[in-house]
Amino acid sequence: PNTITTNQSNKSFAKNSVEWDLLRNSINKFTDNHSLKVPLVINGERIYSNEGNLSSSSLVSQVNPAKHAQEIASASQVTADGVKFAIDSALKAKKTWMEYSWDDRAAIFLKAAELIETKYRYDLLAATMLGQGKNVQQAEIDVIGELNDFLRFNVKYAEELYHQQPVQSSKGVWNRAEYRPLEGFVYAVTPFNFTAIASNLVCAPALMGNVVVWKPSQTALLSNYLLLTVLEEAGLPKGVINFVPGDPVEVTDVVVNHKDFSALHFTGSTAVFRSLFGKISSNVAQGIYKDYPRIVGETGGKNFHIIHESCNVIHSALSTLRGAFEYQGQKCSAASRLYLAENVADEFLDVLTKNLDTVSLGNNAVHEGFKEFMGPVIHKGSFDKLANAIEEAKKDPELKIVCGGKYDSTNGYFVQPTVIETTNPNHKFMSQEFFGPVLTLYKYKPSDYEKILEVVDTTNQYGLTGAIFAKDRSAIRLAEEKLRYSAGNFYINDKCTGAVVGQQWFGGSRASGTNDKAGSGNILSRFVSVRNIKENF
Ligand code: GLU
Repeated sequence: PNTITTNQSNKSFAKNSVEWDLLRNSINKFTDNHSLKVPLVINGERIYSNEGNLSSSSLVSQVNPAKHAQEIASASQVTADGVKFAIDSALKAKKTWMEYSWDDRAAIFLKAAELIETKYRYDLLAATMLGQGKNVQQAEIDVIGELNDFLRFNVKYAEELYHQQPVQSSKGVWNRAEYRPLEGFVYAVTPFNFTAIASNLVCAPALMGNVVVWKPSQTALLSNYLLLTVLEEAGLPKGVINFVPGDPVEVTDVVVNHKDFSALHFTGSTAVFRSLFGKISSNVAQGIYKDYPRIVGETGGKNFHIIHESCNVIHSALSTLRGAFEYQGQKCSAASRLYLAENVADEFLDVLTKNLDTVSLGNNAVHEGFKEFMGPVIHKGSFDKLANAIEEAKKDPELKIVCGGKYDSTNGYFVQPTVIETTNPNHKFMSQEFFGPVLTLYKYKPSDYEKILEVVDTTNQYGLTGAIFAKDRSAIRLAEEKLRYSAGNFYINDKCTGAVVGQQWFGGSRASGTNDKAGSGNILSRFVSVRNIKENF
């Protein structure tokens, strides 16, 4: 692990006909009139719909968002009793898991990474493309790049944590530190948009010796269930990770009211995180838990690109296209507000809109060569929200659609990449997160550069990612200084998406999360509780 290299930076996308055929076979496996039945997995047992009192009679169906008539999976839904059983199973499995040596634990996750990169590569790519609407490039960045990087780098970071400089001892005394897993269980609430993030939210605590109750997103069930089966094949003992798809509110209610709840590992919306944080805090105040739970969350963003007059215009326009529209703008990190210096605006918009006109939008998983740049948004709720925003923009005198603005959900949830201009830098379109392919821009006078930095910092509640495009060093320095808390990931002359594990530690503060930095060693320390031991001789 010490000589580890990242998969993300050596992108090797599927590129020859043999690989295309393998990918197509996996896609066919999940689409040929075959919807996978996804069970709950508790204590290693598969529990299908309506079995005893652990799962309800209802099934949640996961469709291909590019073709919503096509169901690719249907999942059992856990009941309150099922969640209790998952917690009991996790706590029981903890005893076995704590007897595993560090090396054995690490080996399981490293083996999983190997299996994902080889034996299950195409199945996981296909599941992520079909279920989460990614094109092959975005799926590879996710599953082969980031997911594997998380698994391998976490082993390296954990080794560094466990073997760091020993506690000082003195003559006749031996002091030592024991990195214990948390005493109770970890609750992982995972998002649809990255299979890698779902994996990391579950695997990072488990690697550190914790047991986990995992509530996957209802729109990422296929890839997430496959991932679990790979972890099992790699040797994960039963009960260490318990997979409980279900109604988020019902599952959460049981989990966060349990006395052994020790940590929340969350990626999702700001609103849900706030409400969970609130419930947990009120339980803490009432002394319900054995531990003070660790709360680790990554939530929303309204991420900015600032285009300074000294920038390389073509580079910044193309970077903005990628930062705002890759994966349909459904990365928490995606650029969604743009501040454009007036004197470079025409050239910038010319490059951006001409390139956007050639962008292909379609069903990523069926086209010859899988060449679509953009696919569908994740579900009807998201589609409706975006369509409403576009309609609102058409009516609002402070807004003007610069390009895009069409949407169609006849077969799949497609929204054209849309650029909207506002004359009001504090318009709500500069502060609301749409989580889709809509970018709002404001043109500023170059002489107002410093003022615009103030606006960037204060317009909204978030602090996730942002970028400055400039050649002028003093402009870069000023932005770094004025925007210190506006972004936990700040990019200079690069798009604000695409953080690489180990290189750009990911996360932001303010309403964007607890900024514990996925992809760094820091996050692992949230899932251990140190015991210090002193021995006299
Ligand atoms: N880490 C990803 C990036 O830098 C985004 C993560 C997210 O969407 O939560 O683009």
